[in-house]
Amino acid sequence: MRTRTIAALAGMITMLFCANGCTASTEKTETKAKYIFLFIGDGMGNSHVAATESYLSYKVGKLGGEQLCFTQFPYLGLCTTYSADNTITDSAAAGTAIACGGKTDNGMIGVNPEGEHYKSMAYELKEDGYKIGIMTSVTVNHATPASFYGHNKRRGAYYSISQEIPATGFEFFGGSGFGGFNGEDGNEEDIDIYLERNGYQVCYGVEEFNAEAPQTDRIIFCQESNRKESAANYVSDGKVAEDIPLAKMVELALGYLGDEEPFFIMCEGGAIDWAAHDNKTMSTVHEVLDLDEAVKVAYRFYQEHPEETLIVVTADHETGGMAVGSRSGSSTVNWAEFEEQWNAEGGKNTLSKTENMELNERCSIGWTTWGHSGSPVPTYAVGKGAEKFCGRLDNTEIKGKILGE
Ligand SMILES: [Zn+2]
Repeated sequence: MRTRTIAALAGMITMLFCANGCTASTEKTETKAKYIFLFIGDGMGNSHVAATESYLSYKVGKLGGEQLCFTQFPYLGLCTTYSADNTITDSAAAGTAIACGGKTDNGMIGVNPEGEHYKSMAYELKEDGYKIGIMTSVTVNHATPASFYGHNKRRGAYYSISQEIPATGFEFFGGSGFGGFNGEDGNEEDIDIYLERNGYQVCYGVEEFNAEAPQTDRIIFCQESNRKESAANYVSDGKVAEDIPLAKMVELALGYLGDEEPFFIMCEGGAIDWAAHDNKTMSTVHEVLDLDEAVKVAYRFYQEHPEETLIVVTADHETGGMAVGSRSGSSTVNWAEFEEQWNAEGGKNTLSKTENMELNERCSIGWTTWGHSGSPVPTYAVGKGAEKFCGRLDNTEIKGKILGE
């Protein structure tokens, strides 16, 4: 009787674990998807996702239950993020681990701790005939996108990292623009001129992009507001009217790459991290929503090509040590007050550090650091090969799983 009860319980537990489609199958899929989307929410830990869904639920008068697009994907994993030299990684080491499948020291891009070049999945897929699109809501030469094409022991070497773009031959780059527009000493040639001299059409804004796209096979999209200068703007916080959201950037890339050839798109929600560094709750939530809208574009594409498409959504690390809950707040997050501040400033947050800390504490969102944390991050996947992104993962395993190894 007792044995039977245990067996029945074990069965129930198995069913529970399989309810989200997650199985422990070790069956190998030998071939990779024809169309691959990898979304990286920079700094997006579990609490950033939970807070955003709590906010969405609040918007329809509920305490929970509303979901982002990507949290509805059938496969869910938890990914460790430590770097070669630190418990707590930065975006350079984490981006490198994801893109290249190997650990490195904090601050390094696309190289191992000795400075030897790694080969990112973008280069490997390019060799296999894939078209490549690399895009972000922050700068094109920031750590995460740079990890897919650059090689440098110093992530801050923005100008030299950008100079690696021509040799990639990757078809599409997109972002707010470029950091270090004239190099570290400010005396270098404008980076857009350098890139144009070396085979890339640099376009500011959608109009220019649409006019140039039919005439070139190498293109870089930058936001209109960053024309001819170093870029460093948030997408949601203090949004510039003419700037396009990440979702639109994915649409531009999809239109440009087409679906005849296989493609790989890496799309980073880069400003989630920036908002979380500032411990700005509503800015963080809006940046997660901006990423989710971009994922929706990929998901619609997946619905048209379900057998040939893989979408993976993950993060490079957690930022802010965020928690849904605070020491002195109540047991329910006060989204009404967060929203009141946000709307009063016309959709941004210019509060001082202290004012933000008080607002967060009062309204039950906790933050423990202005930096990153070593908490593992979620991985969501749907489509061909998605079952591999299940259970416990390390960030160095993502490359191989995407390449169908
Ligand atoms: Zn960061």
